[in-house]
Amino acid sequence: MGSSPFPKPKRATCPGCGAEQPAQLLRHHVCDWWRWLDHQVDLRRDELDGFERELGDYLTSTRGRFDVWYAERERGRPAQLGHSKRL
Ligand SMILES: [Zn+2]
Repeated sequence: MGSSPFPKPKRATCPGCGAEQPAQLLRHHVCDWWRWLDHQVDLRRDELDGFERELGDYLTSTRGRFDVWYAERERGRPAQLGHSKRL
């Protein structure tokens, strides 16, 4: 025997950080934060100028300040279980 039931491992690209890995490993792959960020910046380079301007507007708006406050507040909590919403 000795023949693997699996063919050669397929390579797959992580949609988050762009790392190329055997598809089987990708299921357990966790993106490196800096690599992920680099990849996201590459994908959005054209949008970034406008995005930074919009983000500045957003963060100084009432709504943006609320969202930042809310995000800070949520971050201090343990993850909640069973908050799936179904119709
Ligand atoms: Zn990744």
